[in-house]
Amino acid sequence: MSEVPIKPSVEVKYTQLLIDGKFVDAASGKTFQTLDPRTGEVIANVAEGDAEDINRSVAAARKAFDEGPWPKMTAYERQKILLRFADLLEQHSDEIAALEVWDNGKPYQQAATNEIPTVIRLMRYYAGWADKIHGLTVPADGPYHMQTLHEPIGVAGGIIPWNFPLLMFAWKVGPALACGNTLVLKPAEQTPLTALVAAKLLHEAGLPPGVLNVIPGYGPTAGAALASHMDVDKVLAFTGSTETGKIVLELATKSNLKSVSLELGGKSPFIVCEDADIDKAVELAHFALFFNQGQCCAAGSRTFVHESIYDEFVEKAKQRALKRSVGDPFKEGIEQGPQIDDDQFNKILKYIKSGVESGATLESGGERLGDKGYYIKPTVFSNVKDDMLIAKDEIFGPVQTILKFKDLDEVIRRANSTHYGLAAGIFSQNIDTINTLTRALKAGTVWVNCYDVFDAALPFGGYKMSGHGRENGFHGLENYLQVKSVCTPLVNPAW
Ligand code: NAD
Repeated sequence: MSEVPIKPSVEVKYTQLLIDGKFVDAASGKTFQTLDPRTGEVIANVAEGDAEDINRSVAAARKAFDEGPWPKMTAYERQKILLRFADLLEQHSDEIAALEVWDNGKPYQQAATNEIPTVIRLMRYYAGWADKIHGLTVPADGPYHMQTLHEPIGVAGGIIPWNFPLLMFAWKVGPALACGNTLVLKPAEQTPLTALVAAKLLHEAGLPPGVLNVIPGYGPTAGAALASHMDVDKVLAFTGSTETGKIVLELATKSNLKSVSLELGGKSPFIVCEDADIDKAVELAHFALFFNQGQCCAAGSRTFVHESIYDEFVEKAKQRALKRSVGDPFKEGIEQGPQIDDDQFNKILKYIKSGVESGATLESGGERLGDKGYYIKPTVFSNVKDDMLIAKDEIFGPVQTILKFKDLDEVIRRANSTHYGLAAGIFSQNIDTINTLTRALKAGTVWVNCYDVFDAALPFGGYKMSGHGRENGFHGLENYLQVKSVCTPLVNPAW
């Protein structure tokens, strides 16, 4: 790791709340610090929104929805604004990537070549939908003209996490705005900066004031106020932990029964079958877990390996982890940066301790790297048993747990034996095995001989306690639309 962190080539321009098209201070005047995970040092003081600011922003979103011009614009006009926004993101992508890395700690290469381009693609995908959302003419049993209208719901809310800050912004903003809704968005307190830049660019692209409002702040204050607000027609698009998802759902139910879509945690199996090419399987399993410092809801965090190749797999997985380059995320060639913050860093180290204490074999890592920032050595455990905490809980860090299995029935039962059901991976060349596993695994996404491949058009979401609803693709629009049925006699009765 370089001793002195590389200075990011970007300045922090926006640190206030964005309400009704203007940057403003929090009503309380309070601010909070957003930190550089490479050092724990302060990047900026950001306005701390709370319930009063949520009230102000929901009022702005309500006015923008009820009085227009946003929902009254043609779909084509809305589409042009979203497309202009994607162009502006592209023009500013280097600085946005740098800001994301500074605030989050992910490798610059990953942000610049993968995440920001994915955000741009997603915005163009949903811009494309804006003028293609329409209802149906329904064949009626009687002499009636029956049709459905697909209408925006109204004021939507979004609460997003810190692991993919700008991508999660796009997952909410893209479909919500394409359908003609207005939105209040609360970014995670750890990573508020890129949402403010992106929202500013959307206004430069022509978004009318009040259509998108961004309120940085904490979950129990700003987030809870948004989830329980009586004038939010549809919260939320929420992404985060299952624990917080339950709270948000309860707040929504207790207030005005707003509908909620939830994208929550996971403990996803990655199954390496006996016919697998071991080197390729090791590489993919490594990527499935360690990508984004292990901070992925879909991380392949239970690596199941067939007993006939287990020992060789473990040895190679260990060697691969030892080779992983960890350090300043702005440095070229770095695969892994620091964890997001002190809380996550300590939580991960606690899980590692519990893995050792419960009898799993620590093959590599197991401790912090350096004495500054939140770096953790890539950690591999073998001889992991299903009832160990490290095999049950979402660790959300660079900790691979490798479990042994004998046959398909057994691995299906064990892979499904969790409250989660977000994703699963299969590594095999046998089509019968692939077909059997694909159908048997209870997960919203199954990746076969690949992992973490996302597409704007491919729905993503969870079974069981990994969530409600789907994001991306056409299904992502359904969260933000009302279907109205209209019935008219074909010939007016003479009354
Ligand atoms: P979290 O669920 O607490 O936070 C996610 C978002 O919810 C943030 O914007 C936060 O401010 C907000 N929030 C928190 N409490 C709230 C409340 N009472 N009401 C309304 N909003 C609230 O997640 P975290 O604390 O940042 O991370 C904890 C764990 O969550 C991680 O270790 C990981 O297991 C999981 N996580 C999952 C994802 C995912 O994509 N599925 C993302 C981040 C974290």
